Amino acid sequence: MITAAAAARAILTSLHEVMASRAGVQAKLNQIVDIIGEKLNSEVCSIYLLREGMLELFATRGLNQAAVHVTRMAVGEGLVGTIAANIETLNLAEAVAHPDFAFFPETGEERFHSFAGVPIVRRARSVGVLGVQHVEPRRYEEVEIEALQTVAMVLSELIANAGLIDEEDALGADAHMTGHERIAGLTLVKGLASGVAVFHQPRVTIEHVVAEDTEAERQRVYLAFDKMREQIDRMASQAEFGMGGEHEEVLETYRMFAYDEGWSRRINEAIDSGLTAEAAIERVQQRTRMRMRQIDDPLLADRMHDLEDLSNRLLRIVSGQLGTAASLGLKGDAILIARNLGPAELLEYDRRRLKGVILEEGSLTAHVVIVARAMGIPVVGRIRALRAKVREGDHLLLDGDQGVVDVRPAPSLIEAFEARFARNRERQAHYAAMRDVEPVSADGHRIRVMINAGLRDDMPMLNLTGADGIGLFRTEFQFLVSATLPARERQTRLYRDVLDAAGDRPVVFRTVDIGGDKVLPYLRHNDGESEENPAMGWRALRVALEREGLLKVQARALLEAAGGRTLNVMFPMVTEPWEFDAARAVFESQLAFLRQQKKVLPDAIRYGAMLEVPALAECLDLLAPRLSFLSIGTNDLTQFLFAADRSNPKLAERYDWLSPAILRFLRRVVLAVAPAGTDVTVCGEMGGRRLEALALLGIGITRLSITPAAVGPIKELVRKVEIAAIRAAMDGWLAQPPADLRGAIATWAGAHGIDCE
Ligand code: PEP
Ligand code: MG
Repeated sequence: MITAAAAARAILTSLHEVMASRAGVQAKLNQIVDIIGEKLNSEVCSIYLLREGMLELFATRGLNQAAVHVTRMAVGEGLVGTIAANIETLNLAEAVAHPDFAFFPETGEERFHSFAGVPIVRRARSVGVLGVQHVEPRRYEEVEIEALQTVAMVLSELIANAGLIDEEDALGADAHMTGHERIAGLTLVKGLASGVAVFHQPRVTIEHVVAEDTEAERQRVYLAFDKMREQIDRMASQAEFGMGGEHEEVLETYRMFAYDEGWSRRINEAIDSGLTAEAAIERVQQRTRMRMRQIDDPLLADRMHDLEDLSNRLLRIVSGQLGTAASLGLKGDAILIARNLGPAELLEYDRRRLKGVILEEGSLTAHVVIVARAMGIPVVGRIRALRAKVREGDHLLLDGDQGVVDVRPAPSLIEAFEARFARNRERQAHYAAMRDVEPVSADGHRIRVMINAGLRDDMPMLNLTGADGIGLFRTEFQFLVSATLPARERQTRLYRDVLDAAGDRPVVFRTVDIGGDKVLPYLRHNDGESEENPAMGWRALRVALEREGLLKVQARALLEAAGGRTLNVMFPMVTEPWEFDAARAVFESQLAFLRQQKKVLPDAIRYGAMLEVPALAECLDLLAPRLSFLSIGTNDLTQFLFAADRSNPKLAERYDWLSPAILRFLRRVVLAVAPAGTDVTVCGEMGGRRLEALALLGIGITRLSITPAAVGPIKELVRKVEIAAIRAAMDGWLAQPPADLRGAIATWAGAHGIDCE
């Protein structure tokens, strides 16, 4: 089978000859499309270049020659425009099926079904597009796409040398970037920020793509790898990374990649195809990026982001262009823009000036997001093609609460934002002042308000909010941010640190809830078979009971960490009572072992179950006497009750937590465990919202575990509520549900002077 390197090399060799010839530029382009088309066995090969802000067909083999210099499209228009705008590759078996397809009749392209196109990039900007088409509907092989990408890199250099790229023109593509624009993304870290756009600019300008001396290029990469590995090893001794915790795990991932043989081998293969060291690194990076887009597993994708971070480091080292925006220094309040950012790169910025971050990619569990949250920097993610919308130095308003960014806002918008900013600060100060105020209801009931946590970095929130403890510590977070299965000692260390930080306030550890959508790259599930319904699949306790080793290790880590104190532990997704018994038995046998070893044992162990699966509710009278506490995970429970995927945005608005079905169900649970006197906590997102919390108080819930930011608002609510009154009202509503229960509760709140906004 032909390799990508060989395919690219064959094309590159012929291109060399063309470029060395004395033919005119147009003639050269015509020859180039012929060569590529022929070598890739492609019926159509076309080159579009940016001229006067438009993408113009400059040369083609296979399309109507009359369309050359006639067919023009805007950046962002049609498939070619989309490739240029997003700087991305498209590989389509059926071009017309793509939502961005636009038909240009003069080209005669209607005969061709399949289409593959790659951007021609110069100084991190698209300056053109190289495309191939086939009559037959087929997806192009990876080797072909890779060859195309390599050729596009070479083309960008050749075209620039021929003076075909007007740098002004490339800049002129930005001319449409004036006036206000609002872009929506995904909230990754909440908060508001205002500042000027600063591109992290990790991408280095690659001056030369085609190598003169392949052996010399190999040597350059070899030395750069050495230097990068040194840097990574050195980072371990830096303060930020020396503190243990998640950062340590990030570093481990870095090390793993830095010493990865596969990565350096791929770069060497790219050098073999005739590229310079810089171009080869960039090529492999492009390929990884493309793969990442195809990977559906967010966790694996996150690890790939770390690889991208390292790749940029390598590129900077090899090219000697070492400066990122961080090394140049931030001049004022800045909002950093990056396709992706490694956590180490984020930490290089001046914290006083870095106000917010926008990532083209990013996810809630990405390392950089974890670090940003710990630094209190709002982050909005998943905004594509930012370079097409934002220029360096543009004023940006970042709204991490709503997940939107206003680019070049008008003065009225800035004013409104400033006012919100001020209100936010006031509100935060107000809630911070409530830290020591106890959540006692207007009629004297002491409600327990606890926080949900999962990382060491969350611990300061306990003191900042004055919460009653941690009602849900999601232990799987340590697993999620780790490149490998966390060893027992590391688990023990985390649990002990958490207990130390909590002091005499209780911490409820939940055993790992992995599986389903929380797939760990290093732990294969379900024997590698993908699940059609992961949320209802092999996850949480189901995994833990089968992979007993996992639970044993965690049990021992928890028991040892809680030596001399009380251990509160609960099991996720208990569906039938025997599962609780089996999990508890694992703990008991570890306890017996530790006793034998004469280790310091916990003073007391309180075992609890999470109610997330409706079936368990039917057996609560049987299970409750064996439980020290029950915690209701309404996030999962409601998705199962409504048969509505909690992560499906289309269903997000359809079913209401404040529906009679949910509230009746929850009330039945409260009543079912009451005879056994078991504590019941609600630890789903629902409890952190005011109106929902009011309803929960109305059905007899007295313990909430919520997101830290909600503690102040919920404490304030509790102090205004007469529990007896809301219970009476709720009894009435649940007996005879009004058409709009949410509306009824809101009206009731308003009439009782309770602000539920
Ligand atoms: C829940 O399901 O409500 C819960 C708290 O657990 P998680 O959100 O971690 O699934
Ligand atoms: Mg859950």
